[in-house]
Amino acid sequence: MAKRQARSEPLQQSTWQEIEQRAFDSRDTRLDLLEFIPDAIILHQDGVIRFANQAAGQLFGLDAKTLQGQPILRFVHGNCHMQVQSDLFQMENEMISGRRTHCGEYQMVRSDGTPFAAETSCLMMQTRDGRPEVVSFIRDVTDRQRLYESLTQIAYYDTLTRLPNRNRFIEYLEEILMVGGSDRKRAILVLDVDRFKYVNDSFGHAFGDSVIQEIGKRLRMSAGMGSFIARMGGDEFGLVFDDIELARDATKRVLRQFDKPIQVEEHEFYLTPSIGIAEYPRDGKDAATLLKHADIAMYWAKESGGNGLREYVQPPVDTWMRNVQLDANMRHGLARQEFFLLYQPKVDVRTRRTVGVEALLRWQLPEGRIVSPTEFIPLAEQTGFIVPLGRYVLHQACRQIALWRKLGLTSLVVSINVSAKQFQHVNLLKEVSEALKEWSLPPSCLDIEITESAVMQNPRDTAAALCKLKELGVRVSIDDFGSGFSSFGYLREFIPTTIKIDQSFVHRMVSDMREQAIVSTLIQMAHHLDMEVVAEGVETEEQLAMLQTMRCDVVQGFYFCQPKDAGLVERHLLDEEAIV
Ligand code: C2E
Ligand code: MG
Ligand code: MG
Repeated sequence: MAKRQARSEPLQQSTWQEIEQRAFDSRDTRLDLLEFIPDAIILHQDGVIRFANQAAGQLFGLDAKTLQGQPILRFVHGNCHMQVQSDLFQMENEMISGRRTHCGEYQMVRSDGTPFAAETSCLMMQTRDGRPEVVSFIRDVTDRQRLYESLTQIAYYDTLTRLPNRNRFIEYLEEILMVGGSDRKRAILVLDVDRFKYVNDSFGHAFGDSVIQEIGKRLRMSAGMGSFIARMGGDEFGLVFDDIELARDATKRVLRQFDKPIQVEEHEFYLTPSIGIAEYPRDGKDAATLLKHADIAMYWAKESGGNGLREYVQPPVDTWMRNVQLDANMRHGLARQEFFLLYQPKVDVRTRRTVGVEALLRWQLPEGRIVSPTEFIPLAEQTGFIVPLGRYVLHQACRQIALWRKLGLTSLVVSINVSAKQFQHVNLLKEVSEALKEWSLPPSCLDIEITESAVMQNPRDTAAALCKLKELGVRVSIDDFGSGFSSFGYLREFIPTTIKIDQSFVHRMVSDMREQAIVSTLIQMAHHLDMEVVAEGVETEEQLAMLQTMRCDVVQGFYFCQPKDAGLVERHLLDEEAIV
């Protein structure tokens, strides 16, 4: 243990003066007096012990008399020699200005070489001939030291990986930002293991703990010089690099660690990380901001499918301001009923009759412009406004279904789009069943569309929630099927009622044989699994004919009808009814 702290303060000055006075009066009295004190006391001059009381003898493991004449540094641990010498020198200097006491903690050693933590209080005195003499009170504080260390361990270290924890990470970051100045670029990384929840869910938490330990070990091995690694909690780790260049190489090494399989017990599997990087001082000047930005970048990496890294990019101030304004406008807009639904028919390929309609949200600004959902839904998802907005869509659609049912359109199915955030923030099952009850509707008249990429954000939980909705009797469609990053893994746990083949396939299949093969295969697969297939974005006769040959069930697109307001769609539906 190196010296931990040293402070000079006027310790019981009056008592010391008294002792000194009496010591001048009678050397015997001085020695007697010191013998009575239970703390170890030594008097030393020019680095040599002149007197030690019995307690000092016991502390150093020698007879008190034998201590006399020994150099004081013999009982100071080598780590602290310099410190003791410099403190004594300082005391001598300070004595001139009247300061006489000094307290500090050093590592000392007993005569058999055992080290111990010592708390010392020293008083600098003058002998009759004017030479400085030091009285040192020494107390063994090893137990207190150990307690302090174990409390520090608990407060600052993670028991599972033995890495520093989040508190220590923040403290360390604050420490290094304080020294070193802002011309030195540093990197702050947040690493989260993708889909780690499934490791825990499938193999249990004890197994998950072993995996976290293994990842901690690999990070420690690969991060290298100038790095500080902490376990922030769960499957999240934080890394600080003293130098941005070090970080670039280290990040590559860290990523390579995940190319190797993780072996726990008899299981061997691969995991991937999502890493977010923030750079000091570019992305923040303090620990909290840097960590927040690294976290945001990590979520960007996750949202783009995981297994990679993203650097934080400061949004331009005007984008931020625009978003703040847009968010406020949306909230007011909902209260002022500026949002409304359009409906687009879904047509049965064989009968050419409308079997359902999809409700598509629109926002009409006070100046008249109609805003597309692709402009406002992403922000609504970010801010959480999607929750009240989604609730509005659900109730508006239910109200419309109830009206249409009164007109005799009882077999019509109405689809609404829901986003992943609605599953995360609300009990969608409860909201849907309450809405159906409120509008006295059978569940089979409602279809919930969720995009495949939304399912992939949290496949297991979303699949479980969709399963419950299906059990309730509501239809569930996977929207934009086949687009972007997807895996059919969730189909093992949950079979939707319908898949909606993404319009990009429909548009390209006419000129691209491979796209054609994909669409045809998707349709066959869906039929094998008893799912209905809707093709989105059908714009031409040619596309329709091709889909018909492929035995697609339902089509939707501008070829038949643009999204229209409820009144126009109603007329169209009633006309169709009349023809029958
Ligand atoms: P989506 O659910 O895949 O809806 C289909 C989109 O394609 C709609 O765009 C529709 O107008 C458009 N579309 C339909 N037929 C054709 C066609 O033949 N060709 C082309 N090029 N486009 C066609 P819209 O209405 O702008 O909606 C865009 C997306 O916004 C929707 O995609 C859906 O993901 C989302 N959205 C719409 N309403 C809501 C809502 O109430 N809640 C949520 N969470 N998302 C919604
Ligand atoms: Mg849709
Ligand atoms: Mg779609």
